[in-house]
Amino acid sequence: MKYISTRGQAATQPFCHVLLEGLAPDGGLYLPEQYPRLQAGDLDRLRGVWREQGYAALAFEILSLYVDDISAADLRTICSKTYDAAVFGSAQITPLHDLGQGLVLQDLSGGPTLAFKDMAMQLLGHLFEYELGRRDTRLNILGATSGDTGSAAEYAMRGKRGVRVFMLSPHGRMSEFQRAQMYSLQDANIHNIAIEGVFDDCQDLVKAVNADAAFKQKYRIGAVNSINWARLLAQVVYYFAGYFGATRSNDQHVNFAVPCGNFGNICAGHVAREMGLPIARLIAATNENDVLDEFFRSGVYRVRSGADTLATSSPSMDISKASNFERFVFDLLGRDSARVVDLFSGALARDGFFNLHEDPAFASLQARYGFVSGRCTHAERLATIRQLWQEHGRMIDPHTANAVHVAQRHLQPHVPTLVLETAQPVKFAETIKEALGQVPPRPDRFVGLEALPQRVQVMPADVGRLKRFIAAQCTEP
Ligand SMILES: *Cc1c(COP(=O)(O)O)cnc(C)c1O
Repeated sequence: MKYISTRGQAATQPFCHVLLEGLAPDGGLYLPEQYPRLQAGDLDRLRGVWREQGYAALAFEILSLYVDDISAADLRTICSKTYDAAVFGSAQITPLHDLGQGLVLQDLSGGPTLAFKDMAMQLLGHLFEYELGRRDTRLNILGATSGDTGSAAEYAMRGKRGVRVFMLSPHGRMSEFQRAQMYSLQDANIHNIAIEGVFDDCQDLVKAVNADAAFKQKYRIGAVNSINWARLLAQVVYYFAGYFGATRSNDQHVNFAVPCGNFGNICAGHVAREMGLPIARLIAATNENDVLDEFFRSGVYRVRSGADTLATSSPSMDISKASNFERFVFDLLGRDSARVVDLFSGALARDGFFNLHEDPAFASLQARYGFVSGRCTHAERLATIRQLWQEHGRMIDPHTANAVHVAQRHLQPHVPTLVLETAQPVKFAETIKEALGQVPPRPDRFVGLEALPQRVQVMPADVGRLKRFIAAQCTEP
């Protein structure tokens, strides 16, 4: 399988190249040349693999359709190291919980940092170590985080040969739990840098370092952001696992409801559906930052400014633009890369929006691609958290609550709706307290987390200082 860019101006590349490169050189996002279509019998075989050999074996089967530059034996080993019951807290890896009335929760947050980002990031850690070892080279991952992504990246890369992580976070602006989760890591290859500023300052610093091509090359600066194709691919697997768990035969259909931010999670659902997984609807749920809901309702994609992006009680969905959305638009427009360039580097850059309402593609959104959407407010999140607690004794986090709320408005008789659960409530204890009057219980391994010694470098938002710090760390073996 070869990969092409949504902007059509980059050479086609094999999987491992795309893995390490992230963004294509023409500014586009990588996608496979075509989606492998499952034939009659394939789905039966995959169901059998999942049932008899489990999640890791299913992951191997799906990944092998997209990866032809890692041997089957090595890829199988990587999948079983990654999707291990001890790492994800259960043998099923993404267990299902039936809530009745056709609603099923699929838990994606059993990993080391209690958020669904682990599902993909853990695989990325093993793939990076493997590929860097094979090339006998190193990579210094530079990233900015306001929470979930940074900790998932650090837990995935800790102790991995050939990889260092430099993770910038806004000093004093994350929750005490989130800070402790990241800063308590003592691994020599993990560097936490608390920047005296806000998240945007952190992101600007990452951009400034990457803009210095000579520095970037000399210090082998890389990224693990949400547009990395390997992260998306890892996420395709749990759509299959959820489908097999919720159905008895491959004649049945299901819906998936997904709490959306950068459109990575639900884009993996779109890929699974294109492969032929019987998904009726993909239900995109947003919070008050409803860029995506607006598009699915009106055909207008209007990115927000930082100032227009609200800080909500589901912070990992507080986005101003959805960085993976270009992938879906590429498919929606029949893979016309010239139009993607017009829209994303033309209209969006010039006007801040584009409008597909009059385009025949917009009419096909639901019929051809299965997409519907909805939004959820703070009050509705609280009510949903309360409802699931009172009616089912199940505590959910505010991100998942957005998707449950929207899913309840799209229930269909005879078609189960799986809601992807993206974080554990303990990460957002304040909102849970507001909803339920009690704080969520803490998994054993996090008891006393805030009291552990922390390893963090506080730094002003100064790109020169940051570069000197990176260079100094890189002289050590
Ligand atoms: C990242 C994240 C999301 C949004 O996922 P996308 O792939 O960016 O759409 C939702 N919930 C939680 C808890 C997250 O960490």
